[in-house]
Amino acid sequence: MSSGQDTPVIHLLDPSTVNQIAAGEVVERPSSVVKELVENAIDAGAGSVRIDLLASEGKITGIRIIDDGCGMSPQDAALAFVPHATSKISGIEDLDTIRTLGFRGEALASIAAVANVTLTTKPRDSGIVAGTRIVISGGVVTEHGEVGAPEGTTILVEDIFFNTPARKKFLKSINTELAQIHTIMEGICFSHPQISFRLFYNNHEQMMTDRSTRPLDTIARLFGADTVKNLFPVESEFPFMTISGYISQPSLSRKDMARMLVVINGRFISSSVINGAVRSGYGTLLAKDRSPVAFLSLTIDTALVDVNVHPTKKLVRLSREKEIAEAIRKSVSEALLRQDLIPAAEASSQSTVLPPATAEKPAAYTYPVADAVVRGVSESTHTGTIDSDLRLRQTELPTGIPVLPSKLPAIEVIGEFGGIYILGRTESGELVIIDQHAAHERILYEQVQLRLNAEHQSQELIWPVILHRTPKEVSILKDLIPALSEEGFVLEEFGGDTFIVRAIPVVLGRMEDTGIIDEIISDLVSDATTGSANNRERITRVIACRGAIKAGTVCSREQCRRIIHQLRLTNNPFTCPHGRPTIIRFSRADLDAMFKRT
Ligand code: ADP
Ligand code: MG
Repeated sequence: MSSGQDTPVIHLLDPSTVNQIAAGEVVERPSSVVKELVENAIDAGAGSVRIDLLASEGKITGIRIIDDGCGMSPQDAALAFVPHATSKISGIEDLDTIRTLGFRGEALASIAAVANVTLTTKPRDSGIVAGTRIVISGGVVTEHGEVGAPEGTTILVEDIFFNTPARKKFLKSINTELAQIHTIMEGICFSHPQISFRLFYNNHEQMMTDRSTRPLDTIARLFGADTVKNLFPVESEFPFMTISGYISQPSLSRKDMARMLVVINGRFISSSVINGAVRSGYGTLLAKDRSPVAFLSLTIDTALVDVNVHPTKKLVRLSREKEIAEAIRKSVSEALLRQDLIPAAEASSQSTVLPPATAEKPAAYTYPVADAVVRGVSESTHTGTIDSDLRLRQTELPTGIPVLPSKLPAIEVIGEFGGIYILGRTESGELVIIDQHAAHERILYEQVQLRLNAEHQSQELIWPVILHRTPKEVSILKDLIPALSEEGFVLEEFGGDTFIVRAIPVVLGRMEDTGIIDEIISDLVSDATTGSANNRERITRVIACRGAIKAGTVCSREQCRRIIHQLRLTNNPFTCPHGRPTIIRFSRADLDAMFKRT
């Protein structure tokens, strides 16, 4: 404190200021009001809850929640607005076994401190004839009396933040607020399928669920039948937790994690650790920047879940968080492995319709059209055949490894298309198209991952390759050297900005073109700056990508067979390590639909 100023004097804040400060933690914005009031209705044992949002001139003017829950006696109705008054716990020890959503006794007091609230309530099956009506404004009760009312509770909240202008000024646009309310309601509906919810905006219905014992009904109501079609169940049990719910086919993914709904012990929560665990269960089935859709309900020993972390109760603290995350990752990954994940062709997609013959060829259509004719395999004399033969032979799977039943059906090669795709026919008569580069990438990736040829995974270069790097890249590369050498690179610092590469992994094949080594190292270094995967994972992906036969290499029928054979031996034949599909199928029905033969 600078001299010349008075020594500050400590004094206690008056209760109304205390309430307003505390209210700020619970009621951050209008959507928090919806969340707290709906949670109260759920705790009151409601079978149906109606939410009305009233708005005019781009602002939410009122929020009304009607429930058919247990209601309140006249005495309790008044007490409910007192800070820290709750019927849900009596002491801190109750938190270890808490089953209700609320327990802090703060929400009604906080809401009433910053808005005008009208409560109407009548207890269920109590013989009390009249209901109670309380009006409270900025924390002050202005009306308290009897009123005719149905059983249950109705709360109307108006003029939110009328007495806290600073907060009011920072309110987001109404659309942001409505979106937030939708997100909250999605979570609440999913976590309470046994309750029917209806959300109205100025009397227009926005969202509704019916009570149901099947979570898929609720998910379908919220996100549509198309989402449900692409989900499959996850169920697993661990000593401290059970997991049940649904996760999406990799083809149904999103840029953000907004459609990963996680419920712990009936409470909709947000946890980046759990989201991350679900995501990592997909591994390379999804591209780096994609997230799955998931609806998971976890039942965890309540002693391991601390719900008392944040006033909004949206965050929880988990004991044994690492074990929980690992269990989730494992369950997701095993559930995925049990699935048939070959994406079906999109029958309605316009992009599958060829342009009329007169239309100009689009500029992007550059691959060799001559090869593109489906006329059996072009038994090519392409010089590339020898090179790709080498690459394919190097990746032959060693014998003696127990072969599990393949996740892909047997596929007979029909032909090759454009040096990019292999066309095939399955046992059941479906047409499949395989991306040969993506497929080979997957094969290499799994081989490197398994470190199959541990002893001979390195091959010496006849002419060592010298690499020059910028200072920033030098430090990244130095860090990578141990991981690189484990995968078969022999790389030494040569002083200053120079490195020398003496050997490379066998799976990369004969590297006549040493420029490619430079590219591999560049890939690794640039990926390390953005990367999320660990070093080994990154190196494995780059090796797989650079080692795989290139698009544009025309493969012979025998080579196509070999790729399919090896792909069928992989653990996850459905996507390349970057999450792109390796194979797409067209059933007769799909094709008929595209040709409008139905
Ligand atoms: P908490 O939910 O943490 O107990 P609140 O301030 O949200 O705190 O609510 C205070 C109390 O008011 C609750 O414990 C409950 O007894 C009562 N109450 C609130 N809303 C309802 C409702 N919709 N139906 C019945 N009782 C309610
Ligand atoms: Mg509450």
